[in-house]
Amino acid sequence: MAPITPTQALAELQAGNRRFVAGVPRHPNQDAGHRAAVADGQHPFAVIVGCSDSRLAAEIIFDRGLGDLFVVRTAGHTAGPEVLGSVEYAVTVLGTPLVVVLGHDSCGAVQAARDTARTGTQPPGHLYSVVAAVGPSLRRAAQQGVHDIDGIVDIHIAQTVEVLLGNSPVIAAEVAAGRCAVVGMSYRLAAGEVRQVAPAEEPTAQASAVAVPGPAVPTGVDPAPAAVPG
Ligand SMILES: [Zn+2]
Repeated sequence: MAPITPTQALAELQAGNRRFVAGVPRHPNQDAGHRAAVADGQHPFAVIVGCSDSRLAAEIIFDRGLGDLFVVRTAGHTAGPEVLGSVEYAVTVLGTPLVVVLGHDSCGAVQAARDTARTGTQPPGHLYSVVAAVGPSLRRAAQQGVHDIDGIVDIHIAQTVEVLLGNSPVIAAEVAAGRCAVVGMSYRLAAGEVRQVAPAEEPTAQASAVAVPGPAVPTGVDPAPAAVPG
């Protein structure tokens, strides 16, 4: 039976990750019969807003199959307008009860942003947009005295959760109504494990504790990431 609450959806993802870590994946919903069964419609139980890193394939690390996960990936899991719109589609039209922001250790996008801040050398082309979108997380990390890359990654994951809630009234309303929760998780490349980093507490059935909509969060419009200290 498909998970229908945020808590059930999160438990399903965590169970799949445990199978993946242990090396005993079931590869559910990947057979021809299921492929045909879901051809007429999709009801994914989780949205994954993940980094594009090639080692972070959502269906593999959560041991899921076709129709299970609605996946949106960008380098550094930045959440600009098209990402917000994609998530809004999943939670409103498809009724998906859980949104997971998925980052990982040694994230190249976060490292690139930190390098830009340190050297003042602006990356070429549209890569600048990625680096700029990580800028607010770098500043928050500096304010908290966090300078190691994985510590910054955790802060950036939490920041992305805030971006989803703060910049999308649609997502915030779904969360406030208890139909959806937004959590941040970090993946360890070598171990294959995910751990929840935002919020610290597991979502409740009502999800009210995990999703207090706040003011708009700056993202993707930072004109000067090179000014970030640290
Ligand atoms: Zn990454």
